[in-house]
Amino acid sequence: MTGFVDIAKIIDGKKDNEQVNVRGWLWNSRSSGGILFLMIRDGTGILQCTVNKRNVDEANYNKLEKLTQESSLEVSGIVKKDQRALNGYELSVNNLGTVYIAQPDFPIAKKDHGLEFLMDNRHLWIRDPKLMNIFRIRSKFMESARKYFWENEYTEIQSPSFQTGACEGGSTLFEVKYFERKGVYLSQSWQLYAEAMMSSVGKIFTLAPSFRAEPSRTRRHLSEFWHLECEEPWSNLNNINETGDRLVCYIAHKLANEMPREVKNAGRDPNELLKLKPPFPKITYDEAVEIVQKSGTEMNWGDDFGWQQEEPLTKEFETPFWVRGFPTGIKPFYHMPDPARPEVTLSSDLLAPEGYGEIIGGGQRVHDYDQLVQRIINDGFIPEDYGWYTDLRKWGTVPHSGFGLGVERVLCWMLKLEHIRDAIPFPRDMRRVYP
Ligand code: ATP
Ligand code: MG
Repeated sequence: MTGFVDIAKIIDGKKDNEQVNVRGWLWNSRSSGGILFLMIRDGTGILQCTVNKRNVDEANYNKLEKLTQESSLEVSGIVKKDQRALNGYELSVNNLGTVYIAQPDFPIAKKDHGLEFLMDNRHLWIRDPKLMNIFRIRSKFMESARKYFWENEYTEIQSPSFQTGACEGGSTLFEVKYFERKGVYLSQSWQLYAEAMMSSVGKIFTLAPSFRAEPSRTRRHLSEFWHLECEEPWSNLNNINETGDRLVCYIAHKLANEMPREVKNAGRDPNELLKLKPPFPKITYDEAVEIVQKSGTEMNWGDDFGWQQEEPLTKEFETPFWVRGFPTGIKPFYHMPDPARPEVTLSSDLLAPEGYGEIIGGGQRVHDYDQLVQRIINDGFIPEDYGWYTDLRKWGTVPHSGFGLGVERVLCWMLKLEHIRDAIPFPRDMRRVYP
């Protein structure tokens, strides 16, 4: 057989009544009254293929009847609209091409498996149509994120994953064996390097993994997550919030417009994403604390939000919203204290509604040399360890701002996923680095 059609094209209605060739993997099959129903997936979608004894020769029918799950195969047939079929189309099979028969004991076939078993078999579980659908949307997400920045004249930058200093607090650092040298860690963020690169090429962004040794297991923390970060010279807190608003809406609209079927299958009505528009509402940290306290959840001024605090807060909103002005004591040293009120910083987190919570953290950075050195000391670090970083304030300093967005966090919210593990093919957490 030559010339194959993607299943996505068929279920999007672009091949109605045509004779086509399809190739993929057998997800499952059943037979009823001389008709075989084969569910075939090809990486772009899943299609019901019906095989009527009358339409194929006997040898092929017998072969298909015995086909094991995950066998790979090529079939030909006529596309037909059928409301009863998953995705609304089916292929009425009339010929069979190459077949590679899978072993009969596919480990995660049918039966209800526990989560641990499925995670041990993640390398096979990722074939599940539900996961496959999410990963295809994830790819569109990455494409859209880059497009937003490229269309707005940002330069894409890569920063090192081996770093010598903390920028998000020492407790979540992963120390690595780096030849003979001690004190080398995996990157928690590109922050310090971004501020250096910004003075070279101006507005910049990166899309890269960040590593954090998160000590607790939650449904929104990974120890390796994909971090979309940007940094802008000549930019203040309001400017950077605006960038966040536009970026998030741009991605949401792209997913809804270009993958409506996939977004709906994942669990989100695409119209809800299309309704998002900038700017998102803003509240102060002080107001947020009051809302949390009124909901009956414990929180004191000066505390950081955990998910217990964010959950009641996010139920008050229908769109993402900014919380601005976090206390100086709970934000890393590079956050700039508010000149009018130094006990808080010019910082902001974007929280997603429906209980999802923080998806972006960012704000305005310290640009004054003396202030930065003092902030580093107050955080318990040694300024000399950050020598090259403080240099940046000596030569050509400028007010600047930026943020980091967690790709899996945003996917969870946009697709209404229950757990962050579903937003990434091979999730890493405290207890899992295999497979
Ligand atoms: P949290 O308080 O939820 O742990 P954070 O304040 O540590 O988040 P930042 O340091 O501001 O987060 O990181 C920027 C963004 O990166 C966050 O808004 C979030 O979207 C994402 N992020 C941070 N830590 C993780 C993680 N462990 N797993 C997945 N995404 C994360
Ligand atoms: Mg954290």
